[in-house]
Amino acid sequence: MDGDRTSTVPDHELRSVPRMDAALADPRLAAAVDRLGRGLVKSVVAGVQDRARAGEIPASEVTDRAVAALPATASALQPVINATGVLLHTNLGRAPLSPAARDAVCAAAGTTDLELDLDSGRRSRRGRSAVEALLRQVPPAEAAQIVNNGAAALVLAATALAQGREIVVSRGELVEIGDGFRLPDLLACTGARLREVGTTNRTELADYASAVGPGTGFVLKVHPSNFVVTGFTRAVGVAELSRLAVPVVADIGSGLLSPEPALRDEPDAGTWLRAGASLVTASGDKLLGGPQCGLVLGRADLVERLARHPLARATRVDKLTLAALEATLRGPATPVHRALHADPRRLRERAERLAGDLRERGLDCRAVDSEAVIGGGGAPGVTLPSAAVSLPASCAAPLRRARPAVMGRVEGGRCLLDLRAVPEEADPALAAAARHACAPAPAGTDETGG
Ligand SMILES: *Cc1c(COP(=O)(O)O)cnc(C)c1O
Repeated sequence: MDGDRTSTVPDHELRSVPRMDAALADPRLAAAVDRLGRGLVKSVVAGVQDRARAGEIPASEVTDRAVAALPATASALQPVINATGVLLHTNLGRAPLSPAARDAVCAAAGTTDLELDLDSGRRSRRGRSAVEALLRQVPPAEAAQIVNNGAAALVLAATALAQGREIVVSRGELVEIGDGFRLPDLLACTGARLREVGTTNRTELADYASAVGPGTGFVLKVHPSNFVVTGFTRAVGVAELSRLAVPVVADIGSGLLSPEPALRDEPDAGTWLRAGASLVTASGDKLLGGPQCGLVLGRADLVERLARHPLARATRVDKLTLAALEATLRGPATPVHRALHADPRRLRERAERLAGDLRERGLDCRAVDSEAVIGGGGAPGVTLPSAAVSLPASCAAPLRRARPAVMGRVEGGRCLLDLRAVPEEADPALAAAARHACAPAPAGTDETGG
């Protein structure tokens, strides 16, 4: 790419590019080898050496530049400040964990008493304390099983309760959740047969009643979490469905355990179980604000059948997830909860302060009103009043490449940094990233980036 530039690098400059072993002898890089591993540090140094040989940087700066280019961890995953205004952003890993959950993950990361009773020295039930914490928050649930994600919870229920049998479900609830994940396809691959009843817009209890028979595994109720149907519609609620003589499995999606006043149309596990659902399935990393996992709550005999099914082993969660989930349930308000309940006036104040600070540094920046959404396929149609820092659209790419990265949203030719999903503690980091990434380019340079 820079062939002609390479040829202009003088020989003495090429010779003074430090060799790998010389660079690795630098105490900072030697420490990085201990922390990140030799291969990773070598690849960073090699990249910087190449740039020096191409004449892009002076040979004398190779070690310093390599130190600056070292990643924070040995994983390529980067922390991102979510300034998109989408509270649960699937591409950003959905729910951010609370500090309590992060601590619990770290504590459980080594060897831990996952399946051991330290008092007696005997084996104990894996995940017992996480299940206890869950049941405490959902009193109508007799038992619970924690699996890998919401989809796994459905697959396990369908396999254990309806393989070779029928799942009766309304045509209005055979939804695609996102990224091509279609509920009917998922259920069909368990060996259960789907018995569709009603129409897209209207299904009556009688439709279910005439389909239910000896071959029914269960009736499935799905909360269509990412769209709303309006007009001439009718759906049958859990209470009515529970009058049928078969189990009702209800997929709430969001993971709300009890009613959330800010989201009146979102069902919660406690309410649907009280209404008569035999089992409720949900995700842990949506509105519950915890780690990715799937929850199955409800009748003890059915949960037991799921837990004993061979597939339960294939959907088993790891210790890190159990630790994070339990700390989410027992700990203080989650970041998702805080974002959902943030005071719009406070968001505006933060936006004004950030924008003022950036304007002082010469940036084209102002505070604007904004609208945030829940996202993650939840609470369609709900918008939350918010505030944003508005910057030129050209800031979006350099902000993404900042460390920590900042992900905003480009709207109306501006890059908006919506503060609703940004914890207030992250404001200084956000400001620093914006100052650095959007600094007016000194005259004579061409900072286009790619
Ligand atoms: C999100 C969702 C799922 C899938 O849950 P994952 O945790 O993403 O596997 C299933 N059903 C509904 C209604 C959902 O909203």
